[in-house]
Amino acid sequence: MTSCDVLIVGGGPAGSACARALRESGLDVLILDKKTFPRDKTCAGWITTAVVDVLDIDLDNYRRGRVLEPITGFCVGLMRGPEVETHYGKPISYGIRRCEFDHYLLERSGARLELGKSLKSMERVDGHWIINGAIKAALVVGAGGHFCPVARFLVAKPGRGELAVAAQEIEFEMDEQQLAQCPVPAGIPYIYFCEDLRGYGWYYRKGNYLNVGLGREDDEQLSSHVEAFCASLKERGKIPLSMPSTFRGHAYLLYIHAPRPLIADGVLLIGDAAGLAYPQSGEGIRPAIESGLIAARVIHAAAGDYARGRLEPYQARLTARLGKKFARSASDFLPFGLKRFVAAKLMASRWFSRHVIVDRWFLHAHEPALAGTNGDDPVAAQPSCHADRASA
Ligand SMILES: Cc1cc2nc3c(=O)[nH]c(=O)nc-3n(C[C@H](O)[C@H](O)[C@H](O)COP(=O)(O)OP(=O)(O)OC[C@H]3O[C@@H](n4cnc5c(N)ncnc54)[C@H](O)[C@@H]3O)c2cc1C
Repeated sequence: MTSCDVLIVGGGPAGSACARALRESGLDVLILDKKTFPRDKTCAGWITTAVVDVLDIDLDNYRRGRVLEPITGFCVGLMRGPEVETHYGKPISYGIRRCEFDHYLLERSGARLELGKSLKSMERVDGHWIINGAIKAALVVGAGGHFCPVARFLVAKPGRGELAVAAQEIEFEMDEQQLAQCPVPAGIPYIYFCEDLRGYGWYYRKGNYLNVGLGREDDEQLSSHVEAFCASLKERGKIPLSMPSTFRGHAYLLYIHAPRPLIADGVLLIGDAAGLAYPQSGEGIRPAIESGLIAARVIHAAAGDYARGRLEPYQARLTARLGKKFARSASDFLPFGLKRFVAAKLMASRWFSRHVIVDRWFLHAHEPALAGTNGDDPVAAQPSCHADRASA
């Protein structure tokens, strides 16, 4: 039997960030992941500077042998509407490849690793967890993404009553012919909101890699939306005609629509397992990492007593960071035709595109990076964004 203080199920950004902070506070941490690393993850691979700051990533070191594309502008529009380009003249985000980024974070975490092994069973014995009949842990952190088995343990029927984002993407290295065909400048994501405003499609180039995808908060006919989007990009000469056609799909929950409980006796969920992605952009890496760091702080303070009551501050701190959930927003009550009309007008506006869509929705520029895990309380000291969620 292997023993550890904390078992983290899932070695993605949430699990690695949590593990690193727990290791720094002196705990013995084991990460269990069903995949061996490097492994890929369905994702556009776009991170904000807040992620770089909170993880203290040395960019010069990171870019050695890995793709790191500084993003200096955005181009945004409604599908079949006008496009508005915004340039910042400096990096405001970065394009990374998840196979490289997640491997880098996992190795840096300093945790013991059990890779290529899935969580199969989880039993409570004398106040401890026995995992797969082989690992004994005082606390289990569920960081296994949307389909996390620890979340399944907490929620009798995950998926029921959950409105998930369903998304598909493709990422491939362009060959010389495709590069010649493809006029996409590196470092500018192109984002097109669906006409029914239920999601958006994107394409952007990082190094010689092109990432194309589309996500919607409904999964009806997702493949048809993706096909139509790609066909229209090809028709307009935006992406190479001769590109691979096998898209990969995945689902995840936006924070405001995630009903999952976050804690139980000796259990805590972080990242996509908890359903924390930002509502307007679908960005999930930053909230995954921040939740991992906030959880680490609460676990450290619990000093070995992981009863539900001792883990409750996690829930409160996450709400302070991400805001309260509102069942309905003001715009839900507007007729669709009016919403569509207003959206078209707003998206054609340079001011709205820069200050609301890019700065607020996509960069979360109004929310400074989470403070370090070893200093003062990382959440209490920072402003909450309740008002922002309410207006959204
Ligand atoms: C198409 C698409 C595009 C996206 N683009 C972006 C983007 O550009 N920027 C952004 O910020 N967010 C993006 N997201 C969201 C982002 O990918 C997730 O929010 C983020 O990966 C969450 O990190 P995580 O660590 O919680 O989970 P994950 O990254 O999903 O990691 C979970 C880990 O758990 C492991 N695991 C799963 N099941 C088990 C099991 N049974 N036993 C053991 N291990 C298990 C998996 O192998 C995996 O390594 C996108 C999502 C999709 C679907």
